[in-house]
Amino acid sequence: MLVMALLNPLGRGDSERIKRELSILYEVSNAMRTTLKLDHIFYMILTALTSHEGLGFNRAMLFLVSEKSDFLEGKMGIGPHSGEEADRIWKGIEEAKLSLEDLLNSYDKFKRDPESKLNAMVKSVKIALTEDMGILALTILEGMPFEVTTDEAKKKVSPIIQNNLNTEYFVTVPLKSKNKTLGAILVDNIFTKKPITKSDMRILTMFANHAGLAIENSRLYEETEYLSKTDWLTKLWNSGELRKKLEKELGISRVTDKNLSVLMIDIDNFKPYNDSVGHQEGDEAIKTIASHLGSKSRKADFVARYGGEEFTIIMPNTPKQVAATIAERLRKEIAGLFAQTEVPKGIPHLTVSIGISTFPYDGGDKDNLIHRADIALYEAKKQGKNKVCTYNPRLKKGLFGFKKRY
Ligand code: GH3
Ligand code: MG
Ligand code: MG
Repeated sequence: MLVMALLNPLGRGDSERIKRELSILYEVSNAMRTTLKLDHIFYMILTALTSHEGLGFNRAMLFLVSEKSDFLEGKMGIGPHSGEEADRIWKGIEEAKLSLEDLLNSYDKFKRDPESKLNAMVKSVKIALTEDMGILALTILEGMPFEVTTDEAKKKVSPIIQNNLNTEYFVTVPLKSKNKTLGAILVDNIFTKKPITKSDMRILTMFANHAGLAIENSRLYEETEYLSKTDWLTKLWNSGELRKKLEKELGISRVTDKNLSVLMIDIDNFKPYNDSVGHQEGDEAIKTIASHLGSKSRKADFVARYGGEEFTIIMPNTPKQVAATIAERLRKEIAGLFAQTEVPKGIPHLTVSIGISTFPYDGGDKDNLIHRADIALYEAKKQGKNKVCTYNPRLKKGLFGFKKRY
């Protein structure tokens, strides 16, 4: 008997359960290795926590620490928002005989479905990371799990969670990477009222450690990918990304038979300005203009730093006249930004000139469109700068000595 107990100190039921939990952990870790997309990883984590074939919690929510480590922000929540919906979803999964693997692979469907109430609620949560902000904040600050099972514990739940979740009993676990706490997971059994046991907590913690590493890897990957597409000084898209985007948008414009306009923007008289105020001040001016172009362009437009003191804006689904009106607004605003700044004697206040070309009239491919927007820009410079010009075929004649950029 003693030998049996030593060999199998947890008992048959426990060892079966541990076997099952390890196999879930194995399956989810494998699935998480197939993607580096952060949202996809969140989906897998929460699906594994909520599906019957997984850990079977009623609802699961994921929160991450903000970049400046001052807030905890809701990222995703999976689970029904009412008992009836819970029955319907769980029955559906059972009838369709969906395995954990099937569910883990259903991310595209999840993204296509209308957003659930729970997900929208979680995404609206933003909690300051201070000790008086409740259990979720404490999970991060102390880097340890918490159980809310008593009235005393409930008093420590922040109002935003209390009011929106409407839950009696929940637990939180920190999501840890190698050396820091990245966020927290919150799970509950609001519909089944099944108590969350010590062994649930153990597997949850193990699971959160795997999830933390997967999130860290995915973040590093997304950050590197983002850095490779953007310009370090202005944080606008770089010229490589601009070309890719233009190619893609032109493909869409061809199919949908829509116009697409390209703006080339160049700072006027930047060389004398730069030479007299110095490169650092020059960089500041480039940043100011970039940030204005980025924030004052429409959502669908794509703003890039083409090079040095030149910018490009791709305007999908935009006829020439509309592009010209927007360009004129941007030109005016930028001239206004610098009109009052102090400049050395003899140096003009900074302004920009803008050239515009439009698909399909001025060119059918990206090189042609960029070249012709450049020709129009050259015309704006010729006409005295601080101007917007649109391309037309007659302009070509005046291009003596103008070099193609590519
Ligand atoms: P134009 O009105 O015809 O455009 O004249 P310009 O003086 O602006 O002439 P051009 O466009 O040829 O000059 C570009 C100058 O921009 C050259 C260089 O001194 C400056 N420049 C280019 N890239 C950077 C940069 O990253 N930082 C800073 N500070 N200056 C740059
Ligand atoms: Mg230039
Ligand atoms: Mg210039």
